[in-house]
Amino acid sequence: MHELAVCQGLMREVDRVARAAGASQVLSVTVRIGPLAGVEPQLIESAYPLACAGTIAAGSELIVERAALRVRCERCGEQSEVLSSHIVCAHCGHWQVQVLSGEELLLARVELTRQCDA
Ligand SMILES: [Zn+2]
Repeated sequence: MHELAVCQGLMREVDRVARAAGASQVLSVTVRIGPLAGVEPQLIESAYPLACAGTIAAGSELIVERAALRVRCERCGEQSEVLSSHIVCAHCGHWQVQVLSGEELLLARVELTRQCDA
């Protein structure tokens, strides 16, 4: 399952961030997913509990932020936000556009707690 592999990759990054910060627990993880990232946010959400089981992020909350798809028109040069099902310039309707953002799958934020384990 592709989304599980994606989640496990995120977990490695979360684990690295948490260790670097000396955290004892991860409360929430925010990921930003663009419409062209090639993953379904719903599938990421369902794979997440599996991926974080047994890690420092076990039991943490996943927050998915959906990034906008932005393009720049190669004809009129304007930038616009478009739907992934209809990628044309919103200003002039031209189809030759350059994708500026929307392909990302990023770890946006990790909320941590730190405890003294004396
Ligand atoms: Zn245009």
